[in-house]
Amino acid sequence: MKLDRTDVGILRALQTDARLSFRELSRRIGVSVPTISARVSNLRQLGIITGFHAAVEPERLKQVCVVVIARASPANVDSVGAAIVKLPEVRWTVTSAGSRIVAEAVLRRTDAVRPFLKKVRAIGGVLAVESHVASKALKDAPLAVIADDASAAIECFECGKSIEGVPIRIRLDGRVHYLCCTSCERLYRERYGKIRSLANAPSTRVPRRTKA
Ligand SMILES: [Zn+2]
Repeated sequence: MKLDRTDVGILRALQTDARLSFRELSRRIGVSVPTISARVSNLRQLGIITGFHAAVEPERLKQVCVVVIARASPANVDSVGAAIVKLPEVRWTVTSAGSRIVAEAVLRRTDAVRPFLKKVRAIGGVLAVESHVASKALKDAPLAVIADDASAAIECFECGKSIEGVPIRIRLDGRVHYLCCTSCERLYRERYGKIRSLANAPSTRVPRRTKA
């Protein structure tokens, strides 16, 4: 789904400063405060905004950054990746070509490096581990690139498939729900209605489709 200029504006502004008020965002982007509020909650619901964090500098806390490259057998890439994700020291990790998993870990002290690498080597399916202890951070900007024509990967709330074109947006109980096609929309409304009647919630009228 293509993001419009309001979404792009919100993402750019909040990625730089997550503490901006809705009022300030409204002033900068030129839309109303309720629009900002609705768009932010929508971006969160879609998993595009995943949180609002303070940026803490590990070096200032005298911590050590280690980049590890673990090579796994091709059959074990997923399980090795899952095991690396579970290590609390790991800040981010990606898989790479050649059945490699690249990860960065932040450790409390230099003498924690060796035990950490031992833990990585002990993961079943790991064939080799290469490690690099960072001596100086030159750039650390874990930001997404938000292009003017950015588009978001959205899954249909009914069938779970990725929506390629323009999604069908329906508003139910004040939230926007995304569907890929009219038959998914029909099934979803039926299912939603059943869940509501089971929950004994007052459902006086069928919600109407909102304009995309
Ligand atoms: Zn669908």
